[in-house]
Amino acid sequence: MNALLLSEYRQLQLVDFPVPELSPDEILLRVEACGICGSDVHGYDGSSGRRIPPLIMGHEAAGVIAKVGRDVTDWHVGDRVTFDSTLYCGKCEYCKRGEINLCDSREVFGVSCKDYRRHGAFAEYLAIPTRVMHRLPPELSFTEAAMIEAVSVALHAVSVSGFRQGETALVLGAGMIGTLIVQALRVEGASHIFVADPDKSRVEAARGSGAHTSIHLQKEGSASTPMTTISEKYPEGVDHVFEAVGFGTTVKTAIASVRKGGTVTLVGNIEAEVQLPLQAVVTRQIRLQGSAASAGEYPRAIELMASRQIDVSPLISAVEPLSKGGEAFDRLYRKEPNLIKIILTPNSN
Ligand SMILES: [Zn+2]
Ligand SMILES: [Zn+2]
Repeated sequence: MNALLLSEYRQLQLVDFPVPELSPDEILLRVEACGICGSDVHGYDGSSGRRIPPLIMGHEAAGVIAKVGRDVTDWHVGDRVTFDSTLYCGKCEYCKRGEINLCDSREVFGVSCKDYRRHGAFAEYLAIPTRVMHRLPPELSFTEAAMIEAVSVALHAVSVSGFRQGETALVLGAGMIGTLIVQALRVEGASHIFVADPDKSRVEAARGSGAHTSIHLQKEGSASTPMTTISEKYPEGVDHVFEAVGFGTTVKTAIASVRKGGTVTLVGNIEAEVQLPLQAVVTRQIRLQGSAASAGEYPRAIELMASRQIDVSPLISAVEPLSKGGEAFDRLYRKEPNLIKIILTPNSN
């Protein structure tokens, strides 16, 4: 089969690779669409340490079942499906509590790190255990379905934040996850959603996805901060901030924008360590909540997308064949303007 192999850092090649063998509980997916994730782009040059070559990346995929393993009864050849990118064990204490994103032996498709290597979906076929599979409704195309993981990540962040209907929120970062958090907050009945980003075109786009007020983030040290805008309506600050960037400066801005007793949910993590305004967090009793991947939000994501309550189409910038994969990674790596998500289609030319 054709596969896009990361043979060394920043080197992607279309290679002939053996079709995966099936275990009794697995199905063989004919991959119709697979999105390039931000984490793939960060791993591609070795900076994250989670894409050690040689590796076939790709974990945001959808397709059709081409073959089923010996013990598989509920899934059939021809079914349109997607899968949870987190492969959990189903047996550890975390899995038993439903916290599958925290599974002790969690593996992610298309990732290789010091503990494991598991090839992903930038290939014509991929073997997947049925416990992580989900069916696709006819309303969702394969390219849209490649966005389910991102929608699940956004829904998970809103879920762990403890957000309640009628509350206010600021979303820092109007990239893909930030924009989807805005849409998720809209669905959950936020009374006012602010969105802030240093990129003007992104903030404008996020307004289209349901934010009430967009804020153009100025450089650090500038007199105007999100709080300048927020305080016109909410002098105390917002109930919730979602930090979807992951820099020290934006974490600081997040803490400065939330009301006393409010919650800052941390989703972005570009920098491994940041400075924390400790006294502000303690004396204002701010809750800092981390959010990792997703844990059971796939069915809800599928339902919200199929009913068009969450619309991912504006976030899909390009759809390309696997042979253009190297070029697509390069465009994302160089941060080409106005490029959000590129989806590769391994089974079409
Ligand atoms: Zn991803
Ligand atoms: Zn587990």
